[in-house]
Amino acid sequence: MLTGTQYLESLRDGRTIYLGGEKVDDVTSHPGFSASARSFARLWDARQDPRYRPWLVSEEDGESFASYYLMPRSRADLERRSRCSAIIAELSFGLLGRSPDFVGGYITGAAMQPDRFDRGEHRFSENVTRYYEFCRRNDLNLAHAVAPPQGTRDPARFGRDSEDVPTLRVIGDYDGGVIVSGMKMLATGAAFAHELWIGNILPLAPDQKTASITCVLPVNTPGLSLWSRKAYAFYGQGSFENPLSTHFDESDCVVICQEVKVPWERIFTLDDVAWSRGIYFDTPAHALSNHQSSVRYRAKIQLMLALACRITQCMGTDKVPAVRDTINHLSAQEALIAALIDGQIQGHERLSDGFACFNRRSMYASIYWATQNYDKICSRVRELMGGSVLQMPADISVAAAPETSALFAANWAGNGWSARERMKLFKLAWDLIGSDFAGRHAQYERFYMGPAFVVREHVGRETDWNTTLGPLDELLASYDDDVSPELIGRAIEAT
Ligand SMILES: Cc1cc2nc3c(=O)[nH]c(=O)nc-3n(C[C@H](O)[C@H](O)[C@H](O)COP(=O)(O)OP(=O)(O)OC[C@H]3O[C@@H](n4cnc5c(N)ncnc54)[C@H](O)[C@@H]3O)c2cc1C
Repeated sequence: MLTGTQYLESLRDGRTIYLGGEKVDDVTSHPGFSASARSFARLWDARQDPRYRPWLVSEEDGESFASYYLMPRSRADLERRSRCSAIIAELSFGLLGRSPDFVGGYITGAAMQPDRFDRGEHRFSENVTRYYEFCRRNDLNLAHAVAPPQGTRDPARFGRDSEDVPTLRVIGDYDGGVIVSGMKMLATGAAFAHELWIGNILPLAPDQKTASITCVLPVNTPGLSLWSRKAYAFYGQGSFENPLSTHFDESDCVVICQEVKVPWERIFTLDDVAWSRGIYFDTPAHALSNHQSSVRYRAKIQLMLALACRITQCMGTDKVPAVRDTINHLSAQEALIAALIDGQIQGHERLSDGFACFNRRSMYASIYWATQNYDKICSRVRELMGGSVLQMPADISVAAAPETSALFAANWAGNGWSARERMKLFKLAWDLIGSDFAGRHAQYERFYMGPAFVVREHVGRETDWNTTLGPLDELLASYDDDVSPELIGRAIEAT
């Protein structure tokens, strides 16, 4: 298994990343990415820590591997996977949406039911199994790009499609596989991943066969480039002013492939529109990866709750009953998401071949609740903060400059907090709630699983409608539906 240092070294592999017009040579040293790369590396180092190792590392037949590659066979295994995600989320405060346990769940879930990948003329089950073993053995970190660019989706579901936008598709073949070209959005964490999973989680139209490829590629594959949005650390003011933007910006990149060769052994679906989407739901892939989403969300809400407590203490409002009430409300939200996580384990599903899976309906419902409530939770914290964040001086040089330091120390202190401590707290709060980074997180929490109607569709699909409708149908059948002669008599009289 890799150490943090080895993980960082492995990212220096000649990958192509553009930040605006600049080509980023090395994410481990570039000011826009390096601090976040170290935050990812910390997740690898944590495995050496006796507090975390028992959960982060699993063993089978003498082989040690990351617990997110564990194929769960029991409730205990699901708890182990969940605890592993919780530790990763706690170490990154829920701010790394695509931590390695996320896409690690895709390949693990797919490899639990490889036979399903043998369909029609294609036999891809061995590809799935071998690739899973390859990831597990080499301790790989995967990112994914499974949404076609806007304007290229099934017109029946998403409005008109457009030929102008070059969605990623197969454009030809060669002796060893197929050639793909085009664009996919939006590979979060790809700048820090070893491999990229390309696929389709949104519905394609029946005639979009060439786009229905699912494959995996090393991030440094020739012809593959990542186009990063603004890297917050690059434009920020460093740790004190922007602690979260600096250290936990996982990056989001559009993926461009220009005549990229995909070897046969790295293809999981081809020429099958429905199955290219079905792989996520007809295997445990989506459920294993997205349990992480709830666990990670909880860690972020825990951070927000703690921040709300400290901010109100610092402002001296913490004893006000209405303020306490808001803090208690936030605490209830955090407890609720904890219960939603437990429910996914408590109601786990038994699968064929002795495998177990998180309860899918609870998992989607939990994510739906989270997507709908993130803004509301942020808004409560914002309410508590008042103008506090904006009364802080522009930057911490005020504490060093001879002309300002004494006045700053005297006037910005209060309620047992020094001026510097207060400023540190409020800068962090703003980074979580109000900064560019914070805005991106609000968008992430809304869209990482697709737009809301797609998430609701997942909940509907996993609902057992027979069980839901049964009691009502029984009730309807339980009483007499003959019309009483008295009612008929009254109706005749009235006419
Ligand atoms: C921060 C962030 C990180 C992401 N990370 C990843 C990642 O790691 N990997 C990945 O593959 N993808 C990622 N995504 C992309 C994500 O998959 C897409 O954003 C998501 O699928 C939604 O697609 P869209 O953004 O094109 O929005 P659209 O699908 O265009 O939807 C936008 C809005 O249009 C409206 N709308 C569109 N169609 C309909 C309809 N039929 N009915 C009703 N309303 C409709 C709704 O209001 C909807 O909210 C990420 C997105 C964000 C914002």
